[in-house]
Order: sequence, then C-alpha cells, then structure tokens
Amino acid sequence: MHTTTSPLATGLRDHGFVGRLAEPGDADYDEARAGWNGAIDRLPAAVAFANDADDVAAAIRAARGAGLAFTVRGGGHSVSGRSVRDGALCIDLRALNGVEVDPRSAVVRVGGGALLSELDAATQEHGLAVPGGQISHTGVGGLTLGGGIGWLMRHHGLTIDSLLAAEVVLADGEIVRASADEHADLFWALRGGGGEFGVVTRFEFRAHRVGPIVLGGMLVYPWEEARAVFQATRELMTGAPDALTAFAVLVTAPPQPPFPAEHHGRPVAVVAVAWTGDPDEGERVLAPLRAGCPPLVDLVAPMPYVALQSMLDETAPHGRRYYDKLHYLSEVSDAFIDALLAGFAEVPTPHTHVMTSWMGGAIDRVAPGDTAFGHRGARAFTWLIGCSGDDPVEPAADWVRRVFDATAPFASAGVYVNALDEGRSVRDAYTDEVWARLVAVKRRYDPDAVFDAHGIRP
Ligand SMILES: Cc1cc2nc3c(=O)[nH]c(=O)nc-3n(C[C@H](O)[C@H](O)[C@H](O)COP(=O)(O)OP(=O)(O)OC[C@H]3O[C@@H](n4cnc5c(N)ncnc54)[C@H](O)[C@@H]3O)c2cc1C
Repeated sequence: MHTTTSPLATGLRDHGFVGRLAEPGDADYDEARAGWNGAIDRLPAAVAFANDADDVAAAIRAARGAGLAFTVRGGGHSVSGRSVRDGALCIDLRALNGVEVDPRSAVVRVGGGALLSELDAATQEHGLAVPGGQISHTGVGGLTLGGGIGWLMRHHGLTIDSLLAAEVVLADGEIVRASADEHADLFWALRGGGGEFGVVTRFEFRAHRVGPIVLGGMLVYPWEEARAVFQATRELMTGAPDALTAFAVLVTAPPQPPFPAEHHGRPVAVVAVAWTGDPDEGERVLAPLRAGCPPLVDLVAPMPYVALQSMLDETAPHGRRYYDKLHYLSEVSDAFIDALLAGFAEVPTPHTHVMTSWMGGAIDRVAPGDTAFGHRGARAFTWLIGCSGDDPVEPAADWVRRVFDATAPFASAGVYVNALDEGRSVRDAYTDEVWARLVAVKRRYDPDAVFDAHGIRP
C-alpha cells in the first residue's frame, strides 16, 4: 500500500483499498498515467492499481466519498484517452490479468485488465480462442464492452457474442454477477454499451476451437493496383465462407523487408487475411484473389493463431500520437474506394494508415436487439488511423477529418462506440430502440452517472 498520507490515499485506505497508488510527485506517476496514445497527456488525481474486485469497490467508494470523478482503465488503448481524465482518480485494472481456461467446458475466465495477448496465449495452449481484435496489446476490457471486432468475427461472432457472464462492481461498490439469468438487463447492456454500467473485474467467455495453426498473412500490392485490389477483395468477400476474414489496408511501405526497396516510402495496398477453417479449402478460396491480382509479396501461409493475432502489433506501437475515426459501410462501393484512395494519395505522415474490413457472417446470426451492439447488418467498416509519430498530432488528425468527410457520403450512419472521437456523440453508436434500453439500464444501475465513459445519461 502507498505510504503517503494525502487525503486521497487516506480515504482509499479507510475504504479498504490495498493496491498500489501513484500520485502526482511520485516517481512512477508519469509512467502510471501514460496510455497507448501519446497524444493524450492528462493529469489524473492519482492512479489506483486495484488488486481485485474488493479493491475496485473500495476505490469507487473512496472516490465517491471524496466527491471525486473517476475513470476505469483496462488495457489503456482508448484512442481518445477516455480511461484517464484530468483531476479524476484512474482506477487501473492492469493487475487483474489472470486467465483461467477449463479445456473440457471451453469456458475461459479472464480478468478485466488483461490484454488480448494474455487471453490468446492461455487459450491457445488448449487449441481454443475467444474472438478478439487485430492488435494483441489491446485490452480485453474496453474491446469487449464495446463489442469486439477482429480476425474471428465472421467465423465466431463479435467478442460479446461469446460472453457468458461478468463479475461487475456497481456504482455503489456492490459486486454482482451478470449473465443471461442474473441481472440480465445489465448483462445485455454490457455487451456493446461500453464501460457505462460498472467495472467488469472478470469476464467469462465460451471459447472456440481455433488453430493452433491457421492460414493467414498479408498480400502486398503496388499503389497503382489499389483500386483493383479493393474491388477483387470485395468480390472475394461477397458470399465468402464465414471462416474467411479480410482487411484491405492502405499504408506507406516502411523501409524494410518484406516491402521491395523500390516501394519504400511509397503508398501500397495490403490485403490481410485470416482463414480459420480447413487449410486446403482456404487455399482454394483465396486462389481467385491471388490469380486475379498477383501480389508483389505473398506472405499468406499457415501460421500459429497467436502469430496472426500479433502480426499487426508493430503498426500501432505505444507512445506515438494518434487520432482515429471510423465509418460503417453498407457496401464498399466504387465511389467509396475512389474517395478513399484520393484521400490516401495525400497522406501526411508515414505511419497513418486505413483499414477496411468486411463484416457479416456470424455477426449477423445474432439478432440486432439481443445485445447492445448497435450495428449488426453493416457490411464493412473503414478505420482511419492518423499517426504523427512523436510530432504534434494535428496534421494527421486534420487529414483523418478531411478523408472522413470526403468518404462520408458513401458510408452508413452510426459509429462504433470503441472508435468514438471527440466530434461524435455516443447517441450515434446506437439505434433508437437500443438507446432507450441503455438509458433505462443506466437509470437502474448508475442513476448518478458516475461511470462516464461515453456520456450515456440516465
Ligand atoms: C491499436 C489499437 C487497435 C485496436 N483494434 C481493435 C480491434 O481490432 N477491434 C476492436 O473492436 N477494437 C479495436 N480497438 C479499439 C479498442 O477496442 C478500444 O480502444 C478499447 O476501448 C480498448 O480497450 P482497453 O481496455 O485497452 O482501453 P482503456 O483505455 O483501458 O479503456 C477504455 C474504456 O473502456 C472501459 N473499460 C475498459 N476496461 C473495463 C473494465 N474491465 N470494466 C469496465 N470498463 C472498462 C472504460 O470505460 C475505459 O474508459 C483498437 C484500439 C487500438 C488503440
């Protein structure tokens, strides 16, 4: 336990908090407040590292007792920095990163502060996986509560579609279990409603048989072929088996292998694929893309699932300055592709990139109202990720805004709550019916709106 006697430290101790505390002036304060996005530089009142659910409850009670706002941090990946706020107590869950796998029932219990890499490593020991995202240093907590879109989404659904139950610390510090049978309204809201209803200290997932070897990797194309590559990927994904997920990525080729030297520093198109079915069938399914659009570099091959899950990690390292926006798409139309390519032709920084991914498959097999996730039925999404390295983020952010606006006429309404930037309202993340239910659940479980991740008001 922290040894200082600041009023906050004393209040936490009085409420039974036993975890580590980093306060302004402490040697570890700067490291403790830093998140993934280097563009966010906020000064919380303190960072309280909870050891367990009781610690989380104590931190909530202490903050409320002191009239202090608080935030909750899982993996720290919120691009807009929601998990740290100036002057608020940051309740950090990083120490809650245990993963228990029951291979017989395929049930996985994972702490609310675990990273996807930790979840993947533990489940893959048994040939199992829980659908996650595309970058393995993302937190299970925030990703799950917003929905969870990633490599397995078309085969096994969103992350929330595999959620069986959650241990939740509520606004008054009470610890409850939410599932289909217990606090079913809360369980519904947790699956897509963001971190607005309580702190999840443990998730319980049903895992699926995946790998350990899957067919995946990247096909790299010259910029001149980008339009044809988007069209060919669209063709491939129209009616594709659910076992196939594909991302068409626009990126500036870094000066290193496997990118050919003559393309270094130039924009290229990359198709990143994952096939989680029978490998031979996967080769057959991918053959038309490879034959119709022969790549410069073909890196698609059998690989461990954990390698697939971390394949893109280096594209998004901690500490650089980022800004993002996301569109859902009802189709990846030629007009959309043209607008996106025209935008990328003016990309201002080498690390800025754009990912377009096809949805559908298992995502659509869950009825829209069954969970709070707002946008089942979208056919694809495009994620614009501006990055300025260590420089001020504004040129990259300005580019993201301009390309977002230029492509907006070809996109569908709505936003993913996990890609909510400062310019958009949480209301846009949900349909009218889902919104009304979320507000009702908020009224019941958090009437004072102390969980203020996105701004749902009771
Ligand atoms: C590099 C990168 C890659 C990404 N890739 C994907 C992807 O492939 N698919 C995808 O769906 N999303 C992706 N995202 C978005 C990601 O889902 C969100 O940024 C998410 O908020 C990250 O969760 P976190 O726990 O790491 O973040 P944090 O910043 O720790 O948390 C964000 C918010 O989530 C809430 N929260 C987190 N954990 C808990 C908890 N245990 N209990 C209650 N509330 C909690 C809190 O409100 C918190 O403010 C990516 C983001 C980044 C930066």
